[in-house]
Amino acid sequence: MTRIVYVNGRYLRYRAAQVHAEDRGFQLADAVYEVIEVRGGQLVDETRHLARLSRSLGELGIREPMSRRALGLVLRQTMLRNRIENGLVYLQVTRGAAPRDFLFPSPPVRPTVVCLARRLDPARLEARAAAGIAVKTMPDFRWARSDIKTVMLLPACLAKEAARAAGADEAWFVDRQGFVTEGASSNAWILDARDRLVTHPRETTILAGVARATVIDVLAEAGVDLIERPFRVAEALAAREAFITSASATVMPVVKIDGTAIGDGRPGRVTQLLRSRFHQVAEISSR
Ligand code: PLP
Repeated sequence: MTRIVYVNGRYLRYRAAQVHAEDRGFQLADAVYEVIEVRGGQLVDETRHLARLSRSLGELGIREPMSRRALGLVLRQTMLRNRIENGLVYLQVTRGAAPRDFLFPSPPVRPTVVCLARRLDPARLEARAAAGIAVKTMPDFRWARSDIKTVMLLPACLAKEAARAAGADEAWFVDRQGFVTEGASSNAWILDARDRLVTHPRETTILAGVARATVIDVLAEAGVDLIERPFRVAEALAAREAFITSASATVMPVVKIDGTAIGDGRPGRVTQLLRSRFHQVAEISSR
């Protein structure tokens, strides 16, 4: 099937979808993005994703390219034109194209908007969740504003490559004090010895994940206690359970950290409960 990509107001065939050579997203990573899950032909947690996109744009002083309603239409059209039942929609907004300069273009130029969709096989994801994933820890060498969802993803690429080379599926970043901040493309969670869930608080050093927020809603319903505090690698290794959250993986069990089995080495009970309830609590948008 021909893939269709939205670029600046037009729905183009995949091979024809292009941005300018001096687009600031391409040259300077001066851009932000969102990845939204599509499930059963519907967007998951659209409101939270678009709110976070606005926040990221605001933090960088990039103009809102269009209203939230219009962005919602672009997301839906891209999903529909690609006939995505289950998968992801990717939305990127850059500061726009202008002669290369560190300083922002003045007056501001029109932001570039790109939207892509991709199919995912739910059976494959379920098989992965049934087995659980392995994580490798490594120093957090990113900039100090990881709360902004920028396309400046080279550290995440390097971390994921290093994780793969070590036989792991995801990297967990560890700050200079020895605390786990988050995953390369996910938030990190553990279940402590008193059955309380622990995850890093929302600070400028982590991305406030949309799936993280939805899991917090699930916890409230399931009656599981939550403590938002940093935890060390040693505490994670001794945890009863561990998992990651992201729009693409929702709740994904972690069964190994740096080669050490977590709990009994299988996906934990609380993790599985949260995974099974996730979509009952998440916002599922109308078509
Ligand atoms: N942290 C980082 C660094 C990420 O890149 C992501 C997702 O890409 C997340 C956390 C999880 O965010 P969300 O749940 O909104 O997908």
